[in-house]
Amino acid sequence: MIIDAHAHCDVRFGWIHTPEVLFGIMAEGGIDKACITGLADIPGDDDEAYPRFVAALRSDPERIAAGYLRINPWYGNRARDLFIRSVREDGIRGLKLHPTTIILPPNAPAVIEFVRLAGELRVPVLFHSGDEPNALPLQIGKCAEACPDTDIIMGHMGGTFFWEDALRVAQKYPNVYLEPSGNPLPDIIQKAVRAVGAERVVFGTDMPAIHPKVERYKLDHAGLTPDQKELVCSRNIARLMGLKLNSNR
Ligand SMILES: [Zn+2]
Repeated sequence: MIIDAHAHCDVRFGWIHTPEVLFGIMAEGGIDKACITGLADIPGDDDEAYPRFVAALRSDPERIAAGYLRINPWYGNRARDLFIRSVREDGIRGLKLHPTTIILPPNAPAVIEFVRLAGELRVPVLFHSGDEPNALPLQIGKCAEACPDTDIIMGHMGGTFFWEDALRVAQKYPNVYLEPSGNPLPDIIQKAVRAVGAERVVFGTDMPAIHPKVERYKLDHAGLTPDQKELVCSRNIARLMGLKLNSNR
C-alpha cells in the first residue's frame, strides 16, 4: 500500500488538477491513495475554493484518503472558524501552510496560533519547506518547539539546499516528520531514515507538480527493509491522519 502524504487536487492558477487528472497520474505512478491539499490559501479571493476542495475530497474515498485544508492565517478569526468547522463538520484531517504564498514565516505568531490549534483539533500540519527565505527548516523548528503537541510534516524537507537543517530539526523535535518530495538527492529517503528512524519519514510526491514516478524511484532505491517501507509508505501517515488501513501490500 502506498499512500501519498502530499498531493494537490485543485483547479487554480492555470493548473488543472481535478480528481480525474490526479487518478490518472496515481495509476501511472503506482500510488494507491493520496492525502490531498488545494492550491488556494483559504479564505482568499476565491469563494469557491473551499467547496471545491471538499468536493474533491469526497469524490473517491478509496483513492483520496484525507485532506489538509490550506489556510491563510492573515484572515484571523474567519480562517480560524473555517478551519475548526472543516475538521469538526467536513472531515478535514490536516492543515496545510505554505509560508511563501501566505507571506508569513513558520515561526510568526499568527502561524503558531494555527499550528497550536491543529494540535488541539488532533490533526497534523503539512508545511511547505524549501529554499525560500520564509520556508526554512530552522523556522519550522522554532514553530515545532512552540507547538510540542502538534505533529508537523516538513514537506520537501528543506528543498534542495536545506535538507541538512531539516535532519537537524527533526532530530531535535520529536513532533517533526520528514517528507522528501522534490529533493533531488537519490538517497534522501535513506538519509532521513538514518537520521530520525523510519517512524518519522512519510512518503509524498507533491503530484501532479512532480510525477510520482520520480519519487517512487527514490523510494524504491532507498534500501529500506520491508518494515521500514511500510512505515514510510503508509503506516506513519495513516496514524497521523487517523486513517484505517484494511489492506496491505
Ligand atoms: Zn505541495
